[in-house]
Amino acid sequence: MQDCIFCKIIKGEIPSTCIYEDEDVFAFRDINPAAPTHVLLVPKRHIDGADTLSDDDPEHAALIVKLIFTAGKLARELGLQDGWRLVTNVGEHGGQTVRHLHIHLLGGAALGDFGAKLEFRK
Ligand code: AMP
Repeated sequence: MQDCIFCKIIKGEIPSTCIYEDEDVFAFRDINPAAPTHVLLVPKRHIDGADTLSDDDPEHAALIVKLIFTAGKLARELGLQDGWRLVTNVGEHGGQTVRHLHIHLLGGAALGDFGAKLEFRK
């Protein structure tokens, strides 16, 4: 998608610290880390968010499985043997600031509520 910052990162038009790439998935360091290790995993194909996943698209389910499997592989490679967290924010109330589906991989410390965006506005 033309104006999507993550599509530009995937195409190399905006620099990023890429740590993994295959034909479907791109993973890079979050520019504003919320934990000692903070990686974003994104599908190369633009999908707005988890709210636009659909049974009608046969590729969607396979992509989600691949993103989560890849997160597990990267967590092992990054030495997160004591545990880690996956988060995906959806829409305005979910705190999604970039409208390209992404999964946050957080670890490297006991997280508690750290990085979970559990707070809410009254
Ligand atoms: P969310 O708030 O869940 O939509 O997450 C978007 C994430 O993208 C935030 O954690 C940002 O720090 C991160 N982010 C935004 N721009 C960049 C960038 N150019 N490179 C790396 N991470 C970014």
